Amino acid sequence: MRIVVLAGGIGGARFLRGLKKAAPDAEITVVGNTGDDIHLFGLKVCPDLDTVMYTLGGGIDEEQGWGREGESFTVKEELAAYGVGPEWFGLGDRDFATHIVRTQMLGAGYPLSAVTEALCARWRPGVRLLPMSDDRVETHVAIEVDGEQRAVHFQEYWVKMRASVPARAVVPVGAEQATPAPGVLEAIADADVILFPPSNPVVSIGTILAVPGIREAVAAASAPVVGLSPIVGDAPVRGMADKVLAAVGVESTAAAVARHYGSGLVDGWLVDTVDAGAVADVEAAGIRCRAVPLMMTDVDATAAMAREALALAAEAGKTAEPKETKGTGE
Ligand code: GDP
Ligand code: CA
Repeated sequence: MRIVVLAGGIGGARFLRGLKKAAPDAEITVVGNTGDDIHLFGLKVCPDLDTVMYTLGGGIDEEQGWGREGESFTVKEELAAYGVGPEWFGLGDRDFATHIVRTQMLGAGYPLSAVTEALCARWRPGVRLLPMSDDRVETHVAIEVDGEQRAVHFQEYWVKMRASVPARAVVPVGAEQATPAPGVLEAIADADVILFPPSNPVVSIGTILAVPGIREAVAAASAPVVGLSPIVGDAPVRGMADKVLAAVGVESTAAAVARHYGSGLVDGWLVDTVDAGAVADVEAAGIRCRAVPLMMTDVDATAAMAREALALAAEAGKTAEPKETKGTGE
């Protein structure tokens, strides 16, 4: 079975760990979000790709959900001693090595997809990890500070400001000119199942879908597409997804996120049992829906979620009309 997963950072990575356990023989291709990428200290940092790589490769800080386990911060402290920041972005010593290798390879002319493959040769994540694009895409957030409009890098909004002011708009800068990385469209076309893990619908999956060709490929794929809600009980399980959902005019509910993707894009949608009341609402939008436990408390619970997603995909796949006849969900 060939499974394609569009993934952000923590939500995507943790789900993938469960999926690997649920489908140990599957060939899993991960299309990772690179809209969160940022240049710091002259280094190219790809937080979402690294979270997937470290989580599946056994190097993640489990508690935190991102960064390396057993991390120290000597380099950061030494930089700070020179007055060089930003101090708000946590880059540990072990993590620095990844960004140095990546930046060095990019400088030598390798595309990000080749660099990611090289980094994965060490981590052996057990999936094929592809960046959504080799082109630079950078998510910016439009905010208003003291009556003045400003745009800040997504990381500044998320990590520095903790999304403390409303987001007016979320713009994946460069996405329109970007092309999918080698292998992305082929993997989607050849997939038996396509999954949207409980990743952020706007700044993770939304950004991936903003690369011209990817949304269209998912909509046209013969494989059933099933998503899992990152919103449980009308709030994100973790983080501030409600802030960026509001920016695109979507309520923070499991049903609203399903409708945001639309029946042209997703065939099935899983909501948490606390949101069982939303099932009829989602089905009314033409999306097959089930309520099952969606808390990734441990790998077994997550594997059970993955099994439910695959079961719903199998059900949707049997009765699926050819997707080409459907809209693109916009
Ligand atoms: P990020 O790039 O690190 O922000 O990670 P993702 O975009 O992949 O995932 C973030 C989303 O994961 C958040 O909106 C959370 O609500 C969601 N999430 C985190 N843990 C869980 C969980 O246990 N269950 C569900 N359903 N969603 C979760
Ligand atoms: Ca992210």
